[in-house]
Amino acid sequence: MTLRGRLTTAFLVVVLGPVLLGSIFVALTVATVSSNRTADRLDHAATTVRTGISAICRQLQATADAVAVVPAGERSAVADQLVARGLATDIRIVPELPIAAGNRSKPAVDTESWQDCASPTGGPVGAIAATAMIDTHAITAAQTVDAAFLERLGAASGARVTLGEQAVPGARELSAGPGEPLRLTLTVPHHQPTFLYAVLLAVVLAAGAAAIVVARWLAHSTTRPLGDLAWAADQVAGGDLDTRVPIVRPDELGRLAATFNRMTRELKAYVRALTASRDQLRGHLAILGETLSSTHDVDRILQVILRTALAATGARAGLVLLLDPAGGHLVAHTAIGLTGAWDLPEAELGTMRLPVGSGVLGEVAAGGEPRRGHGTIAEAEPPCRTYLAVPIQAPSGPDDPLLPGESGPATLGVLALYDRVGGDDFDEADLHTLRTFAGQAGVAVHNVRVHEEAQRLSLTDPLTGLWNYRYLRESLRREVERASRFGRMLAVLVLDLDHFKEVNDTYGHAAGDAVLGEFARRIRIGLREVDVAFRQGGEEFVVLLPETDAYGGIIVAERLGAAVRDRPVSIEERGSIPVTVSIGVAVYPEHGTTVQEVLRAADDALYAAKNAGRDTYRLADGTKRLPKVNFDPAAGPSGGPPPPRQARGR
Ligand code: GH3
Ligand code: MG
Ligand code: MG
Repeated sequence: MTLRGRLTTAFLVVVLGPVLLGSIFVALTVATVSSNRTADRLDHAATTVRTGISAICRQLQATADAVAVVPAGERSAVADQLVARGLATDIRIVPELPIAAGNRSKPAVDTESWQDCASPTGGPVGAIAATAMIDTHAITAAQTVDAAFLERLGAASGARVTLGEQAVPGARELSAGPGEPLRLTLTVPHHQPTFLYAVLLAVVLAAGAAAIVVARWLAHSTTRPLGDLAWAADQVAGGDLDTRVPIVRPDELGRLAATFNRMTRELKAYVRALTASRDQLRGHLAILGETLSSTHDVDRILQVILRTALAATGARAGLVLLLDPAGGHLVAHTAIGLTGAWDLPEAELGTMRLPVGSGVLGEVAAGGEPRRGHGTIAEAEPPCRTYLAVPIQAPSGPDDPLLPGESGPATLGVLALYDRVGGDDFDEADLHTLRTFAGQAGVAVHNVRVHEEAQRLSLTDPLTGLWNYRYLRESLRREVERASRFGRMLAVLVLDLDHFKEVNDTYGHAAGDAVLGEFARRIRIGLREVDVAFRQGGEEFVVLLPETDAYGGIIVAERLGAAVRDRPVSIEERGSIPVTVSIGVAVYPEHGTTVQEVLRAADDALYAAKNAGRDTYRLADGTKRLPKVNFDPAAGPSGGPPPPRQARGR
């Protein structure tokens, strides 16, 4: 049943119930009053009839007495006169047998159906009579009881009078007895109040019709705003936030409609803000994804992650620090929105260091557990009202090449947010969000480090730790290009251990490896920071000396030759192994203008050194300006060519 139906029914019950009950009460009252009136009329009629009969009896007695008092001879004439005057319908004079004087009583009326007023016999009734005794005569005056007599009685009493007992409902019976010779039944017509009932019914029907009309109007006017509200709620649920409910009246439903409209307006504003925030976050996430997939620049990745975390949590400022394994410190890498001493340009941020183990950030780094709260934190840390800091961890196993021996996630740094917008503390949801971003940061930092390590491993020679042939080619190309662009020189040294096969044969391959390692170490020691050494393969090595001419190259060649020659390599259980090296020197652009030409010139120079008896160096052919210098171990560097002009670049 609809609300409108229920309201209509309730109203009809409330209104029509009392109307119906009242009508029934009125109808019952009317019926009772009517029946009481009938009873009253019967009472009145009975009294009238009794009085009338009693008066007739007294009149008959007086008539009989009047006849009795006249002389016997005149009695008949008097009787006739009295009958003629209507005092009785009949008068009979009956001779009476003499009886004892003290025992005289009225004789019974001899006329068979006459009922004596004083002592009725209860037999059939033809008339009522009264008797007077005189001498031996009984004079009886009678009044005929016929239909006309009864009609007169009825007319006098206002009731219908019948003789004898009649089974009529509502009739009043008068019992016969002394002074009451007739057994009469009185009835009065019972007037049904039909008109009243009709009026009553009409009133009830009119009230019912009016109630139905009013109930329908009330239900309609009450449920219509509710229907409008339901429709509007449907529209809003379907996504139409422009729907408004008309406010018909300023009643409770009107207030409800106004509240609904306000709620919808605010919902729309909220959805708009949420959409904008979602779009912003989506933009940040897109940048984050692009950054993670396109760069290995840790600081840039961390900055994008921090920016996205700020957008996702609504924090004012943030900071990312990474652990410096060497110093046991947290080093700031990127920061947004910080104030005070932390308000630094990007380049200077690396100077901000925090000890691991103390302060909020230091404890997060040491314990690996997030912290959040409000109020002042450690003095060295950024000033804030509220803070949330989580560890940046990399999922590492025992076989992680970067973290040997680590069994669980290793802490790489700390990601911290400050001052949540709105002034509230950071909540569980923020913590969850920040943990997600910290996880991404951890994976990203770890990946970058793994990548760097893999790249280093792919470009270095595992036996000597020097750069390998692959990196040599790339470096040569880059250095030649740089030298060409800036008009500088580049010296290239090719080194080959002498009779190394014999070292292997004499001392064993392992000893040969050890000699190679030691030789590489001495090369590294003998070079500047900007110089780069490579193992080209086997026992052949290459050294690049940027911004160095032939003189400089020769000096270095001499120094390296001496470094090998002067101190035999000592190997455990094998003793010391004397080793010498031959070196070829070529210079860009003097001995070649391409990578291949310079390298070939250096190789040729090496070949020349080998041919010259080994343990020496040779400068490549092709230069007119530089004389070939014979390597004289005894003379040393001081006996060689003049010192090189070396410019410190890079
Ligand atoms: P030369 O003075 O003419 O250069 O004589 P050499 O014996 O050094 O020249 P050769 O090219 O004939 O021999 C190079 C030897 O270097 C051959 C090889 O056994 C040895 N060798 C190359 N790579 C390695 C290495 O990685 N470890 C060891 N132990 N020996 C190596
Ligand atoms: Mg060789
Ligand atoms: Mg050799």
